[in-house]
Amino acid sequence: MTVAACVVYIGLGSNLDDPVRQVGDALLELREMPGSQLLRHSRLYRSTPIGPQDQPDFVNAAAMLETALDPFELLDALHLIEKRHRRERGVRWGPRTLDLDLLLYADRRIDSPRLQVPHPQMHRRAFVLVPLHEIAPQLTVPGQGALAALLAAVDTEGLRAVDEVATG
Ligand code: ATP
Ligand code: CA
Ligand code: CA
Repeated sequence: MTVAACVVYIGLGSNLDDPVRQVGDALLELREMPGSQLLRHSRLYRSTPIGPQDQPDFVNAAAMLETALDPFELLDALHLIEKRHRRERGVRWGPRTLDLDLLLYADRRIDSPRLQVPHPQMHRRAFVLVPLHEIAPQLTVPGQGALAALLAAVDTEGLRAVDEVATG
């Protein structure tokens, strides 16, 4: 059976064990993901942590994929990549080698115990909205409105593209 491909957006984050490499490698793995094609990805951004503050800064990015996987298959594939990066689930919002969140799956709204789409916190998070806006400025978040308006409402202080950080 042929499944129509859908455009989806993934949020990437890491703050352990060389975060720039973790996110860079994850983008390569998204490129290799079965039934999927990486269409675009953002630059890498550095952000201060949400939740516990006694942990390193995060590196974040966003990716746009076309996939024939259904949302749950896609979530499983993302978890598999996290596992390869030795992701451990400890303290909520604590340090991690790699976090891959399914932000948007076409214009679908999903509310199951294992998966909520759009990601329920994405519209409040500068480290999600900034990279997402870089790759898809015209996007609308189902139930939340225009991405550009959501971005205008959050504090982006403390978020810098990694190459800007490197060059000062
Ligand atoms: P947050 O979800 O607030 O960003 P987190 O990424 O640290 O926090 P995790 O420990 O990575 O949370 O994930 C906890 C569970 O969230 C996962 O096991 C997964 O089943 C569920 N989940 C629900 N919706 C999503 C989604 N859109 N993307 C990824 N995981 C999701
Ligand atoms: Ca997350
Ligand atoms: Ca997650």
